[in-house]
Amino acid sequence: MAESNYTGVTSREVLIQDGHQVIYDFNLHHLDLIEKTFFPLEYETWCLTVPTSWKIELKCVRVPGNNGLYTFSVKLKRVDDSNRCVKASLHVSFYDVRGRVAFPPLISSKDIVEHDDELEDGFGDIPSADISHVVLVKVVIMIKRCHTETNFQ
Ligand SMILES: [Zn+2]
Repeated sequence: MAESNYTGVTSREVLIQDGHQVIYDFNLHHLDLIEKTFFPLEYETWCLTVPTSWKIELKCVRVPGNNGLYTFSVKLKRVDDSNRCVKASLHVSFYDVRGRVAFPPLISSKDIVEHDDELEDGFGDIPSADISHVVLVKVVIMIKRCHTETNFQ
């Protein structure tokens, strides 16, 4: 997929029983450059029944002022035009150079996701020293219920 062309990001798709899972690994030097380096990024499920498209955004922004703190946010937005609902979930984890968890994970999940709906999560007040420890951001996206006939129509 096109996503693999971005420097430092790899993606792999896994077909799960009632949907699709994609795992992105973002390898970083500076977490606050994640948006500039990798985005915009889109994911398509290539589903045979209800194909869906998604826009992914990870943003690390310095809080205005002199405190040197950052906020981090993640957003998953459905951008296809199908009127069928799906279930979506998002899990973002952060690792340091030794493979240890650097921050608590960001998690968001919605049972009914339509066109233009968004999932988001984030946290603030991250000291800049902690920002520099993160070398890998792993994003797991699951899109479910696209294969079942019992949809929300
Ligand atoms: Zn599907």
